[in-house]
Amino acid sequence: MTTRTDCLERDAQDPLAVLRDEFDLPAGVIYLDGNSLGARPKAALARAQQVMAQEWGHDLIRSWNSAGWFEMPKRLGNLLAPLIGAADGEVVVTDTTSVNLFKALAAALTMQATDPKRTGRRVIVTERSNFPTDIYMAQGLTSWLDRGYSLRLIDSPDQLRSVVDGETAVVMLTHVNYRSGYQYDMQATSALAHAAGALMVWDLAHSAGAVPVALNADGADLAVGCTYKYLNGGPGAPAFIWVPKRHQESFRQPLSGWWGHAAPFAMVPDFKPADGIARALCGTQPIVSLALVECGLDLHRKTDMAAIRTKSLALTDLFIELVEARCAAHPLGLVTPRDHAQRGSHVSFTHPHGYAVMQALIARGVIGDYREPAIMRFGFTPLYTSYADVWDAVEILRDILDRQDYNVDAKRDAVT
Ligand SMILES: *Cc1c(COP(=O)(O)O)cnc(C)c1O
Repeated sequence: MTTRTDCLERDAQDPLAVLRDEFDLPAGVIYLDGNSLGARPKAALARAQQVMAQEWGHDLIRSWNSAGWFEMPKRLGNLLAPLIGAADGEVVVTDTTSVNLFKALAAALTMQATDPKRTGRRVIVTERSNFPTDIYMAQGLTSWLDRGYSLRLIDSPDQLRSVVDGETAVVMLTHVNYRSGYQYDMQATSALAHAAGALMVWDLAHSAGAVPVALNADGADLAVGCTYKYLNGGPGAPAFIWVPKRHQESFRQPLSGWWGHAAPFAMVPDFKPADGIARALCGTQPIVSLALVECGLDLHRKTDMAAIRTKSLALTDLFIELVEARCAAHPLGLVTPRDHAQRGSHVSFTHPHGYAVMQALIARGVIGDYREPAIMRFGFTPLYTSYADVWDAVEILRDILDRQDYNVDAKRDAVT
């Protein structure tokens, strides 16, 4: 059985341990919710002050050029690209994940509809357990298009093979499921979609910065994702969209705002899409928030995804081992796959009073979150989570469960 001393020993040997000091984490908190809102890089405070005081306050409108505001979506996209196996000029940081998914899906449907060998495909395949906004955005798009498109929802990954067929235009999946932590095999799944003549759109919300992703090598077609989770970009920070070089020419998205125009300052009345990834942009970006994304990306440049993945698996393995050993008397059910290849960077356990137990954990400084139905979710961010954190969090969980120190009538917050 692993002891707390073993955990301290592992922290002493951990090559990523030094990076924890780059984050401002409050004392007395074990933060296991970086999969929902990443912690704040210390550098973000000074960067925010620079944008507010110097770039906005002093330089005013000149900053669109002098501070590189206008180029920021592309510049940050290039910094993010290596983390997801994308090339230079294939990613922009912009808008929200929901909005980018809308653009990606619309573009993918258009690519299919304009390909003489692929026309007539009217089905988008996704997963019932996908994060709801992904399903909602697809529903909004298809009902608004009103051209007979429909959604086909699978109930488990193994249904894909039988559901993806000659009617399928697009397979749209979240690479790491927000609730279960299940990770798809990107290469095999993309190949399955392609074999049926469908395009493969990935949502990397719980993957970017958490697990190695090789979009180009694994044959993905389009992808979107979040910067405020494992990339520590800040609350509501702009998301990203990836369009590989081979699809950029045929990528047409309906949110054809002036930032996606070939000549935004020509102010002509007709839309003409920019060459390259810029055509994925729409309009003016929230620069203060966008600027902070760089602080999170900078920290990723001090390590690499292989080191992050090694530690992520070690942390999640340790958490599963300790919960199952130390809380064995309690009705906890592991939802997350044990198989490393199928696991992201968070671990979910069910408990009949999951909501109340999570509230008790949070009251004692262990911040995870709760997702219906009955699921307690614990995110592990290798950049700032230590092995001792894992031990201490499980010890507090054990104590709460042993003493039934939770309120089953706890009132639910609007946002949890
Ligand atoms: C977090 C998350 C989102 C968030 O979308 P927003 O537009 O930023 O609200 C979308 N999809 C998935 C799968 C997520 O996990």
